[in-house]
Formats: sequence, structure tokens, C-alpha cells
Amino acid sequence: MLPLKEKDKALVQKLLWSGCCPRCVLRFCCVSVQSLYKRPPQELLKELKEFISDGDSSTGETSENKSQSDAGAEQEADEAPPPKRFKPEEAELTREEESPVCPVCLGVLLEHCDPTLASKLAEAVRAENYDFDSLVLSVSLPAQLCVREHSCWLHVKTEVREKSSVLGKEDVIQVKEAFKWIMQSLVSKALGGVAVFSKSAFEVGVEFVHPETDKDCHFLATACPDCFHATKNKESVFTRMAVVKALDKISDAKFLKHYPCPPARPSSCCVSRDVQCQHTSVFIAGRYNKFSRSLPQTPWLINGERRMESSVEELIAGPVLETFRATGFNFSSSGREDVDVRTLGNGRPFAMELINPHKPRLNRDQMKTIQQTINDSSDKIRVRDLQIVSREAMGRMKEGEEDKTKSYRALVWTQKPIEKDDVSFLDDIKELTLEQKTPLRVLHRRALAVRPRMIHSMSAEYKDQHHFYLELKTQAGTYIKEFVHGDFGRTKPNMCELLQTETDILELDVESVDVDWPPHVPE
Ligand code: ZN
Repeated sequence: MLPLKEKDKALVQKLLWSGCCPRCVLRFCCVSVQSLYKRPPQELLKELKEFISDGDSSTGETSENKSQSDAGAEQEADEAPPPKRFKPEEAELTREEESPVCPVCLGVLLEHCDPTLASKLAEAVRAENYDFDSLVLSVSLPAQLCVREHSCWLHVKTEVREKSSVLGKEDVIQVKEAFKWIMQSLVSKALGGVAVFSKSAFEVGVEFVHPETDKDCHFLATACPDCFHATKNKESVFTRMAVVKALDKISDAKFLKHYPCPPARPSSCCVSRDVQCQHTSVFIAGRYNKFSRSLPQTPWLINGERRMESSVEELIAGPVLETFRATGFNFSSSGREDVDVRTLGNGRPFAMELINPHKPRLNRDQMKTIQQTINDSSDKIRVRDLQIVSREAMGRMKEGEEDKTKSYRALVWTQKPIEKDDVSFLDDIKELTLEQKTPLRVLHRRALAVRPRMIHSMSAEYKDQHHFYLELKTQAGTYIKEFVHGDFGRTKPNMCELLQTETDILELDVESVDVDWPPHVPE
């Protein structure tokens, strides 16, 4: 038995008359019993027809109801056009003459909700060889479906469901929802019993298009011009969101002036595009050492041409992407070193977002294997503490970055010959504040500003008449090279001023990056 009331009869009649498929009829009757949508449509149609023809014989009851209803409802009923008496044969005739495609869901709920689509989805999932234990089904519908839904709703909304209330648009079951109710179990079956949830990190999506009715939305652009804006990346301004917004704004009268109500019957059914599978990103983190003075952190390209054969990022990403079978990545780190600067000590914290990983779940041992593979692949870098982290935890790396300290060791050249005693006074300098103008070498990508930076401590180690090693503990973000050579007076004070001779930096190593994230992983 369908959970429909006597009052729904006129509504069902109107919907069938407009060519709606039985599942759309259930939707507009606000039936939320999921199992009913899974029943064979022919069976549903038969029952719906029986239900309304049953009404034919009980018109007495209907008029009785009317006389009992309150004045408001009476008035409304008076104003409404007299209900057409539904004759199944007549409807049958109409349906045969006209297209059998539902003018509201454009066939999504009838022609497409079947085991054939379920196996197409299952095949796509298998072909990509994902490692997953549950999935969420998503469906993308053509934007004009909203216009058609709106038109159908206007067509029936005055049919009184409950006493003196009209059918609310938000009470109508969404096409998407009904689609999922029907398809979820079919897809689960096609994949051998995989759980299909309303939430999962693994999403399998299907997109429907219906070129025949693409123009349905066009009148909205003139009726509600402020809802539609040209966007760079989208091929059409008629996005689903813009259309919904416009339909929200437009008055019923204006809509009815421009669009048929009920919607016209299409001659063809929606077609489904390729199935899209997508797993949410996985995040990993670790620390790296860089032992080379000719290795950039990220690929170094000038006018699209590569300057160095590899990069820290690529050396790490290679084995990671291969194991997680991800299709892309975003690399970030706690600060970065220049191509000619080494990063020693405990290394620099880094994190990576792995996009669309096909094998998202790895255990500790597997992470260790990746780390080993990276470390075996090159002697230019070394990775430690490699682990899977949460998206939220990644924020900890950037947290308070400016307040962190970093330690450096630099080889400094002096123009004037020096004695050991000439540099020993540097050991006593503590908490020296620098005023650093944006260095000339980064001015093309960073705004011009004067930034105060703190050198917490220094110590000098005499090498020879023109060289000494300088150890520095500084606030993160201090430009060390500029502090040594002065950057044409753009960093003040600088080493030239302190030693009263021209100085330059020959080598620089990062000795430590004091960020206590990610957590240490025992070897
Ligand atoms: Zn339909």
C-alpha cells in the first residue's frame, strides 16, 4: 500500500497527467519511505493508477470532506481550477502519444536508476584499483533540472495536502536523494557488498547531462541578471547554484510568463558521463636534511626551463606518490633554504598533501619502507619521522612560525685581514635587533617592507686571515646572507658595519629548525 491520503489524489492525478514518472510522483507527494523508491517503476505506476481510479468511485467522499473543511480551505478550493477527472485510458493514450521521458527528472530516476548503471559505477571503481572499505555516492545533475522541478512544483503546489496548507518546495524529496536511495544498494551489490554510506572518504560520482534542454535556464539570465556572473573556469554561467538562487528570487508570475508549467516533455533521456572516483587527501609529514649546495627545495624553473635536475620536493614525492598511488601533491615546509644552503641537524619539518590517493591506508612499517626508499635513492637528502598526520595537525607546523628560532653556521670572508681577537667580540652580542628591508634578490616576489628581526646570539670561530665561521641563533625569517653582506645597506646593522670592513658569506648551513612538529618516530 502506498502511504497516500485521499487528499493526495488530485496531486497524483496532476503529476501523472503531466507525464511524471512514478518515482517523481512519490517525491512530490513527499513520500519518504525509501523502500518504495526501490520498487519496480511499473508496479508503482500500476498502484498509483489504481489509487486515483479508486478516487473516481469515491467522489462522494471527496465532496463530503470539502463540506467539512474550514472556510479558508473552502475558499482556496473554490479558486482552484476544477480538478480534471482522471481516466487511466485517457492518460495511457497521452503517454503513448507523447514522449515517455519524465519531464521533471529527465529520466534520471527511471531509465538510469538500474543495475546497468550500478555495474558501470562498479566497473569504474575496479578499473582504478582503489583500496577502500566504504564509499559515498554522489550525483551531479544538469542545472535545468532545478527549473523543471520549480515548474512542476508551481504546477501542483496549490493542491492542498493537509488542511489549508500548500505544498512546500522543501518538503518535496530531492531527485538526488531519491537517486541515492535507489542506487546505494544496487552499487553495494555490484561491488560485492561494500558499504555505501552518506559519508565516506571515497566518493564515486556520476554526472548527468541533457543537452536537449540546456536552454531551459536561459530565460533566468534576463529575468534575474544579478544572479549570473561570467566565471573564468566554468564553461557556462548557468551553474546549479546560480540557477537555484535565481529561482529563489523570481516571482511565480514572472516565471510562468517565461516557462511552461508543467514543464514540456523532452524527446530524449539524460545521458550519464564518465564516472569519477575521488579519495579525499591524505596528509603526511616528516623532517628532511639537505646535504647538497646545488639542490633547490622545489623545482627551479626559469621561463619554463628547468635549472637544476632535481629538488628536495621531487626526491621525497617520488616514492611517496608511488606507494600511495596519489595523482598529485602539495608540498609545504617550515621555512625554506636557498639552493646553495644545506640543512643539517635534525632537519626541517615538512608536510605533504597527497591528492586522490588510491591506496590511502599505510601502516608504520610501510611508512618506514617509503622513508628508506627515499633515503636510498639519493645522498643529497635524508628524511626522518615520516608519518601520516591529520589535516588539522598540519597547521601546527606554521603555528607561531615567526617566534621560532633557527640556528645557522656561516663561512664569512673579510676584505681586511683579521686576527683571532678581531672577531671574538661577536660572542658577546646578544638580542641584536636588525631592520631588514626586503632583500633585493626576493623583491620580485615579496612586498617591499622593513622587517625587524632578532639575532639572539652569535659566536665566531677564527679560520684564517680572511675567514671565520659565524654561528647564529636567530628569529625565524631572518635573512642571514643579507645580515652578513649588508645588501647595500638594506639590512642594518650588518656584519660589514660590525667589523668595519667589507664581508661576504661563502657558505651557509641551517643547523636546526626549532619546531617541535611532527612528533619523533623511533627508528
Ligand atoms: Zn521523474
